[in-house]
Amino acid sequence: MKSPTIKKQFLPLTISPEEERIISVMGNCAKELKVEAYLVGGYVRDQVLKRPSKDIDVTVVGSGIGFAEYVANKVIPHPSLAVYKNFGTALLKHEDFEVEFVGARKESYRSYSRKPLVEDGTLQEDLSRRDFTMNAMAVSLNEGDYGMLLDAFGGLNDISQRTIRTPLDPDITFSDDPLRMMRAIRFASQLNFRIEANTFAAISKNKERISIISQERIADELNKIIASKKPSIGFDLLFKSGLLKIIFPEFEKLYGVQHLEGKGHKDNFYHTLQVLDNVADRSDDLWLRWAAVLHDIAKPDTKRFEKGHGWTFHGHEVVGARKVATIFRKFHLPLNEKLQFVQKMVLLHLRPISLSKEQVTDSAIRRLLFEAGDAIDSLMILCESDITSKNETKVRRYLQNFQLVREKMLEVEAKDQMRNWQPPITGEVIMKTFNQPPGRSIGTIKDAVREAILDGVIANNYEEAFKFMLERGAALGWKPATEN
Ligand code: ATP
Ligand code: MG
Repeated sequence: MKSPTIKKQFLPLTISPEEERIISVMGNCAKELKVEAYLVGGYVRDQVLKRPSKDIDVTVVGSGIGFAEYVANKVIPHPSLAVYKNFGTALLKHEDFEVEFVGARKESYRSYSRKPLVEDGTLQEDLSRRDFTMNAMAVSLNEGDYGMLLDAFGGLNDISQRTIRTPLDPDITFSDDPLRMMRAIRFASQLNFRIEANTFAAISKNKERISIISQERIADELNKIIASKKPSIGFDLLFKSGLLKIIFPEFEKLYGVQHLEGKGHKDNFYHTLQVLDNVADRSDDLWLRWAAVLHDIAKPDTKRFEKGHGWTFHGHEVVGARKVATIFRKFHLPLNEKLQFVQKMVLLHLRPISLSKEQVTDSAIRRLLFEAGDAIDSLMILCESDITSKNETKVRRYLQNFQLVREKMLEVEAKDQMRNWQPPITGEVIMKTFNQPPGRSIGTIKDAVREAILDGVIANNYEEAFKFMLERGAALGWKPATEN
């Protein structure tokens, strides 16, 4: 049943010919089956925002699955259709877009679970159970009002005011499904929208309810915040609503400034957000952005006040790199090379900056190139982003010094080709040369050769390295096998 209270207006769609084709097929199917079908949700919102989207959400008053099967039959060539009977949904994949079909529902919730009891409902009921007014609009695919936008809750106006608001009482909306609190903040960050005051107050009020949401879903939303253009918007809202302290206490602990003997340190929470925004301006890499989030994560653990000197955070990069693993495990983030990359970034994040303050030697550069390997470009982005002083002259000077480090890196790189470098003498070579079994001394010699090259004591080539190895072997009383 179409409710007469829904405001209607024509919405010109900006769509590809392929989308146009499938949407008009759906219109014909609705007519043939005599059911009401609507484009809804994120697809309609993104149409209004003129953000092209590859996911089309369709709601049918009746069986979503039945409608999807009928539509799939009419599209030539037949698209793939996955049916999820338990959820009453179906997913049609065609070209590079996906259409998700669902029957209109009304829902009621139980306090311990975000899984609702679902019953068939009207379009109005279906739209009112959606999370935000901007996500609660529909475009009719039905004869009579085809292509009309049905805006039940003032979503269009909220979008024009760049406002996120729940269609019904926000207190109930968030208590019913606390994931919506994360979604509100994620949309605010992605779209640079503000959250309407009552809606935001209800997030603060219901924050504890987030505990019924799985870590995976929380991490999905966090990732979307981190991937947004200005991630600090999302984190600042997480902080102000009190959610951050619950979902990510390690990060929240960065907040605040302590003063002793008239000396304060910087607020590491806002510093980190600045670094994160700086990285986001320079790179879309989600994992480099995670490295920004976590680069100072162990500052609260390592904070000391040294009399007469001030605040120090010695070793925060080492402790921090260890904490990265704990945090990745908690959020079910990948425990593979992504984790190793973020750990490496956290561990090395002070190195380029300390080089930029000293007279840079070739050997220090070689060592950094060796340790960072392929991640060196990312590391440089992180370090440049880490310069957040309010003193602009200071920032400019640091960045200039950084430029020197970069130039020096190119020079050393061209000369020594240290990126992805492996020391020329392997353990096998050492064992074979001296006819020795594996053992600790083999490792010691191998490390000594590597260090000698990195320190510039010998040149980076096989001959010099081999000669150096012979000397180290001789010091142990070893003789090359041929002379035995
Ligand atoms: P995106 O696809 O960019 O993540 P979206 O709004 O399209 O954003 P989806 O998860 O694709 O999000 O959901 C499609 C639609 O389903 C939403 O626009 C909204 O109308 C509704 N929806 C999704 N999740 C919820 C929820 N937790 N509570 C209420 N409605 C929801
Ligand atoms: Mg979507």
